[in-house]
Amino acid sequence: MSDCLILNTDGSPVSHLPLSVINWQEAIKYMVLDKAVVLAWHDKWIVHSANWETPVPAVIMLKEYMKKKTSIRFSKQNVFLRDGFVCQYCNVDVNKRTATLDHVLPTSHGGKTTFENTVCACTSCNSRKGNDKKIKPKRAPHKPSYYELVERRKKIPFEMRHPDWAMYI
Ligand SMILES: [Zn+2]
Repeated sequence: MSDCLILNTDGSPVSHLPLSVINWQEAIKYMVLDKAVVLAWHDKWIVHSANWETPVPAVIMLKEYMKKKTSIRFSKQNVFLRDGFVCQYCNVDVNKRTATLDHVLPTSHGGKTTFENTVCACTSCNSRKGNDKKIKPKRAPHKPSYYELVERRKKIPFEMRHPDWAMYI
């Protein structure tokens, strides 16, 4: 469950990839340990323990700067994000459910599963291509930078658990 957004000391999320969110128990832990300032609360959501009660934080800001991770690991999701969920063969929009990972040089021909050899493809292009290594994507795939992927990610709506999240993401 992602109940609370964690911001760094600079007011931006600790991470966009994935979005730095934690569940309510963790959010309360940060608050109790005095490691973060609460910037917004969930309305009408109060949790109780034997001796005390508290509303649940919706946005917290760390008191100490957390170094951002800016390295990108290869993943299917990151390839889809780099390609903007657009089939790299026919330019049609795909979505999370219909996107497939296609190896430009097929694995049967020694193609590797890397950013440089994989693209987002729709199911029909992927099956049409099959093991044909002569069919090439419209753009040569590249390894994306962290910031490139963050910019891409920001174009896709985030699931907001609280209206104030929109101010920080
Ligand atoms: Zn296609």
